[in-house]
Amino acid sequence: MKIRNKKFKTPTTPKPQAIITVKDGNHVQTTIKCAKSNNIQIRIRSGGHDYEGFSYVSDVPFVIVDTLHLNSVDVNLQEETAWVGSGATLGAGGHFSGGGYGNLMRKFGLSIDNIIDATIVDANGNILDRKSMGEDLFWAIRGGGGASFGVILSWKLKLLHVTPQVTVFKVKRNVSDDATDVVYKWQLIAPKLPNDLFIRVQPNVVKIGQGDKKVVQVSFIGQFLGTIERLLPLPIGTPLESMLNEPNDPQPNYFKGKSDYVKKPIPKEAIESIWKLMIVGETLYMQWNPYGGRMGEIAPSETPFPHRAGNLFLIQYLNNWIEDSPEAIERHVNFSRLFYEFMTPYVSNNPREAFLNYRDSDIGANHPSNVTKIEIARTYGNKYFKENFERLVSVKTKVDPENFFRHEQSIPIRSCKSQI
Ligand SMILES: Cc1cc2nc3c(=O)[nH]c(=O)nc-3n(C[C@H](O)[C@H](O)[C@H](O)COP(=O)(O)OP(=O)(O)OC[C@H]3O[C@@H](n4cnc5c(N)ncnc54)[C@H](O)[C@@H]3O)c2cc1C
Repeated sequence: MKIRNKKFKTPTTPKPQAIITVKDGNHVQTTIKCAKSNNIQIRIRSGGHDYEGFSYVSDVPFVIVDTLHLNSVDVNLQEETAWVGSGATLGAGGHFSGGGYGNLMRKFGLSIDNIIDATIVDANGNILDRKSMGEDLFWAIRGGGGASFGVILSWKLKLLHVTPQVTVFKVKRNVSDDATDVVYKWQLIAPKLPNDLFIRVQPNVVKIGQGDKKVVQVSFIGQFLGTIERLLPLPIGTPLESMLNEPNDPQPNYFKGKSDYVKKPIPKEAIESIWKLMIVGETLYMQWNPYGGRMGEIAPSETPFPHRAGNLFLIQYLNNWIEDSPEAIERHVNFSRLFYEFMTPYVSNNPREAFLNYRDSDIGANHPSNVTKIEIARTYGNKYFKENFERLVSVKTKVDPENFFRHEQSIPIRSCKSQI
């Protein structure tokens, strides 16, 4: 079974009563019927990447619907569309329904901005497409998280044109050199660069020299839709020889993720103090992903994902560690919380916005998960969805009035304070 975060692979982690590896919509229908009549919770898993394990762990009796076999990809070149099964690639079921982004975000927006149809099995066991589910539900599953509304079987995507040649690069600078200055300037420039260029900043702690000395090293990881000749005239100042195409980092072991949105540049002195705190924690690194471009052109209510114009960048905090002990889990999770607290003055507030795909149960969660309190749901809902939360609650109330599809951070129904 795919468990990406070892935090949820301990002897005390609750185990499912069954894992149903569905092969078609019919299997999903039968599972829903069976789970309903036995009053058992369903967890839906595609890629299994959920940061808090919500797709494969529950604190009440549960079964897992695993869509790994729904992995077909049917491309229609003439129509320039593709039907993609929810178990395809890294996990289209969760990644897309949470508002998944990639390096093309500044050019084309998010995955959800390019979805034109979907099939889903709802709480009544009906298999629906866009037409039969209606625009409200179709809106909700594009960024509101699929697992509150049904089991998504597949998505229809609009294919996009990219240049035949793409240039990628990774440039590393230590903070002891000029990295702080470059990061400060990056905040001002990266969200305004041409949409063809995406440069992510990734600070992490590295050892230097023979001893135990540690410094923060910042990687500038870029993708440009075009050739290197077109890229270099842009005012970046990166020497050609430092442009590298390196393999991805290995899969994490234990991890805790959190997220923030930044709306005004973080002052240079504050950046210096952020590096100092990173050195204390040693294992926490960040990804700063620039917004702007197409992201700023799409209205916040167009999909449930509300973080559009006005954001300079999204921060992902990722604390990865390898020690195998409950004490290590507690220590590292506590450090992540302390770091998040420290960042408070520099990030969005009221609400302090968060990205659903970087699931964080610290911002509010229902325990046990078969009791959904709307006042708790509002704490995480306002952070993930802002004004769109209330519309999500309305859609949920309409399509799943018995609150069958639920988890610790699901969308609640409106009428009840709690549901058991
Ligand atoms: C190594 C790594 C890299 C990542 N990179 C990115 C990135 O570049 N951009 C980005 O946006 N995010 C990224 N993420 C976050 C990732 O998109 C989210 O964790 C996302 O929820 C993963 O979806 P999944 O299907 O793989 O996960 P799962 O754990 O299977 O599911 C996540 C959530 O979606 C629900 N769900 C899954 N399948 C379905 C379905 N068929 N129907 C209804 N609900 C469903 C689950 O129940 C759960 O609530 C990354 C995560 C990891 C671990």
